[in-house]
Amino acid sequence: MAKKLLVFVCLLAGFSALAQDLNPLEMRWTFGAHEPLTMYRRVGKKCTGGIDGNARWVKDWLDWFDSDSPALMQELGLNWLHCRFYKGMGWEVEKEDFPNVKRFVDNCHAHGVHALAYVQLNTLYPEIMRHEIPDIESWQAVDAGGHPIVWQSHTYYRTTPCIHCAEWEEYLKEICTIALRDGGFDGIMFDNAYSSPCCCPRCEKSFQEYLASLPDKKERFGFEDLSGFSIPKRFTSYNSSGEIREPLMQAWIDWRTRSLTELFLRLRAHIKSVNPNAIVSANALTFRNADLGTEQGINLVEMMEALDLLIGQNEHYPGCQDGRITSRIRELKMARDLRKPIVALCDSDAKMTPEQERHYLLPLYEDLMFGGVPTDRTVLSPKPIPGFVDREKLDRRRPQLSSFNRFVKENETLFTSPVYAPVRLLYPEHEMLFSQSAQESLCAAEEILSRRQIPWGYLISTPWRPFDVPEGTEVIVVPGLLSLSPAQVEGLARWARNGGKLIVTGDSGRYDPFNAQYLVNPLLTALKGAPNTVLRTEADRVSPAILGWTNNVGVPADGGKRLLEDLEQTGFRLPFTLKNCPQEVALDVRKTTEGYVLHFLNYLPSKPVKGLKVNGKTVAPFSEYTFVKISSNQ
Ligand SMILES: [Zn+2]
Repeated sequence: MAKKLLVFVCLLAGFSALAQDLNPLEMRWTFGAHEPLTMYRRVGKKCTGGIDGNARWVKDWLDWFDSDSPALMQELGLNWLHCRFYKGMGWEVEKEDFPNVKRFVDNCHAHGVHALAYVQLNTLYPEIMRHEIPDIESWQAVDAGGHPIVWQSHTYYRTTPCIHCAEWEEYLKEICTIALRDGGFDGIMFDNAYSSPCCCPRCEKSFQEYLASLPDKKERFGFEDLSGFSIPKRFTSYNSSGEIREPLMQAWIDWRTRSLTELFLRLRAHIKSVNPNAIVSANALTFRNADLGTEQGINLVEMMEALDLLIGQNEHYPGCQDGRITSRIRELKMARDLRKPIVALCDSDAKMTPEQERHYLLPLYEDLMFGGVPTDRTVLSPKPIPGFVDREKLDRRRPQLSSFNRFVKENETLFTSPVYAPVRLLYPEHEMLFSQSAQESLCAAEEILSRRQIPWGYLISTPWRPFDVPEGTEVIVVPGLLSLSPAQVEGLARWARNGGKLIVTGDSGRYDPFNAQYLVNPLLTALKGAPNTVLRTEADRVSPAILGWTNNVGVPADGGKRLLEDLEQTGFRLPFTLKNCPQEVALDVRKTTEGYVLHFLNYLPSKPVKGLKVNGKTVAPFSEYTFVKISSNQ
């Protein structure tokens, strides 16, 4: 009886985690065994969690996980996860596992762990689902030749759904209803939240309707009548396509991204109608993936409207090799500036090197510093031994996790005070979808400011809201952003006229929102005579500047000297001085009532930072992370 009561109380506690109350400082994400046995068996080889799908012990491990893992999670302070529920094989098959899944969710709640239901958005298993849905083929996305689009080439048996298929959408909503009504889940996590470039008749019709609704067709496309146009049958990925200027390609990107956002808004409305407190989340990969518009059909800034929590899966395990820094700064800061919590899941944690294991807390500190949800997905990874727990790893990480959790608890205000980001990089989210050059210039500016410890954030600008300048902003940087809307140009001019500091580089503003060239750059015209404004004709570059599933960003050739000089020329000064800070160290700053808190993260933890001076005082050496408080009166 007592246990039942406990479960009931914890269930209530589970539902008390309202979406608006999600606090990353109180959340610790972990692996929730989100794949069913059926998937492991169908794959057969090594897959999710580093497990051989055909291993004879997978079922025993899942049984162990369902009953025993939540207690271990509680002991370690890990309290959020997504777990298996719906992989895309059809409910008739997947419901067999449902009693086990429910048992796991109950166990989670009994141990203070919140569980989101894994719902696969982007996969159908027609070979299985066909028994339940005889016309499953009609739900599939198809390529230009009418062939089903497979999820990834090596998983030839997984096809992707057409997101314009109404029957599929209704089915997915019913799946969400079951998860929330019968499964007791705290919310839904849609995996692979992107779409395939489908060419089915449904999509052609929807695209035609979209084209017909566009204004200024003759000016943009050359023709008023677009009824003979159809979905572009060939597209190149962003990284090789350069500037996207073909109007039909742009319209296709807009139609696809809008379709996905609208789908998510409908899914959200449905989920909230079943349980208003349910968390809506999705794994939409990384914000700054250059192929989001073309290949995945995502405008992540817009899609965030539909989400309470973003899962941003990536391959950006923090570190530094040959001078090149890999970090999750971009996605963490973007989510923070959109005021949405993010779990920046890093897949590379599955193959940590001994050196990375030695500095195991580095990614957790990175999450903590930039407002993400601290995550350890691998502490409970199954070891193929009786009991499944890697005791050595557990014993090694337990005290570290415990000291991390204690540190956070005792120092919460260090991370809750307002972010001090006086330098803001303009991010015109819609225009970014069409310009590789703008992506690369922005990438360079991000890299320079991070490496030179200038506290920065984004100034996110949408077509419907050019931008509200966050409090504390001193300098706006427009780094080689070719395309700007008239409203964005006017917003920048107003900022500069009112004395705001502004840096504009490259050909910023020379093109309209559809990447079409003006005869005269309206931004330069609008900024004539503005005080505190620096105009530089050449934008900063780094080579390579590849942002995607795996980032590869080069070292700025001149160390970012010109951008630092520009900042100085606007009259910008930091309210503190740093000396001997290596470029591998990132800085994030919070403003407190007494002064500032400086958070430092070392992306090269094998080389401890020694001799760093803040306001002339030497900071104690550190490997991964440290903080320094300074008073405004110093
Ligand atoms: Zn379609």
